[in-house]
Amino acid sequence: MADTTNPPDAEAVYRRLGVAPIINAAGSITRLGGTRTRPETLELMSQAARVMVNIDELNRAAGQEIARLTGAEAGFVCSGAAGGLMLQAAACIAGNDPVKMRRLPDTDGMKNEIVIHTMHRFAYDQAYRAAGARLVEFGDYLFAHPWQLEGAITERTAAVAYLCATFASNKVLPLERVCEIAHARGVPVIVDAASMLPPRANLYRYLRAGADLVVYSGGKGVRGPQGSGILVGRADLIEAAAAQASPSQFLGRGMKVAKEEIIGLVESLAAFVQEDEAAEMAAYRAMAQMVVDALVELPGLRVTLEHDGANYLIPHAVIRFSDQWRGPSRDSIAAAMEQGSPRIHLHQLGGPQELAVDPLNLTEQETAQVIRRLHQELTRQTQT
Ligand SMILES: *Cc1c(COP(=O)(O)O)cnc(C)c1O
Repeated sequence: MADTTNPPDAEAVYRRLGVAPIINAAGSITRLGGTRTRPETLELMSQAARVMVNIDELNRAAGQEIARLTGAEAGFVCSGAAGGLMLQAAACIAGNDPVKMRRLPDTDGMKNEIVIHTMHRFAYDQAYRAAGARLVEFGDYLFAHPWQLEGAITERTAAVAYLCATFASNKVLPLERVCEIAHARGVPVIVDAASMLPPRANLYRYLRAGADLVVYSGGKGVRGPQGSGILVGRADLIEAAAAQASPSQFLGRGMKVAKEEIIGLVESLAAFVQEDEAAEMAAYRAMAQMVVDALVELPGLRVTLEHDGANYLIPHAVIRFSDQWRGPSRDSIAAAMEQGSPRIHLHQLGGPQELAVDPLNLTEQETAQVIRRLHQELTRQTQT
């Protein structure tokens, strides 16, 4: 990565409001700032914000560029992946019939059911329900059988939803199988892959597996505008999604995307696609390795560098607390890091005896601070 330092006065705008910056070693978490937008993107956004254009024309051109970059039939810039989920549902339920579009989220009498693995229910599926979808679950928390999906699809089914996330269960039906079953009944498959980039291969993978619409966050690993999202897929469904999005006065009008964000997303995606992934991963690996090297000698901990394509999409330094660990508890260390100065947030989505350092948002200087503080907290004497 080209920008592992920040301009010296970058923090001042926040401090003026009395908001103290934090160090985010937790990854692309929106509540912790998301990601650092690419500096070259910010330059272009600043230019784009000064010029007036017709937004429909801009949306069409941006969509074509996204399609070219991803190999999709069509694309659209939405307001975050969550906004894209709502548009996916709206597109599948109302198509681009203005009578139906105007009625959303009232979907009485429409094909309004979205079929979803029970294992794929999660907080963001509210975005589907916000468009008026009724979620119909199949399978349980341990199993899902093809016949259960077949049985859940009826003449009221608008789409089958599928979640691709590192935390999603691996006991679900494979996406290819879901697409086969849904398509045999003329039902589209909509995918949430918000946080699956990088690796770049995931930009193509879900469409190739047969998905009809896929949404990615523009403000996570792509490092585009924090509030942006990328919707790609079948041309007719993208057209229906775009028809209901801002600037049109339908359901999506409340999820406006600014012209400079549209430009920023397209330019960020182009930069992301062209970037040398091996070099990018090597830079993250070097940062994670520094953390590993600094802590690996501490008895009772197992500190490893992990990058597996399933749980850790980019290299992380993972700290596991074994039964032999005699120092402070994992939770008290995480809490102490968050309460110190500066406050440091670690990745805590692994197991209950696991903490990790995600290098995605760290500058070189911040990495050194994380290491110093982690060492301090881990070697702090506990009262016995
Ligand atoms: C982050 C995330 C979202 C929301 O993405 P935004 O771009 O922040 O709106 C939705 N789904 C999943 C699986 C996510 O990880």
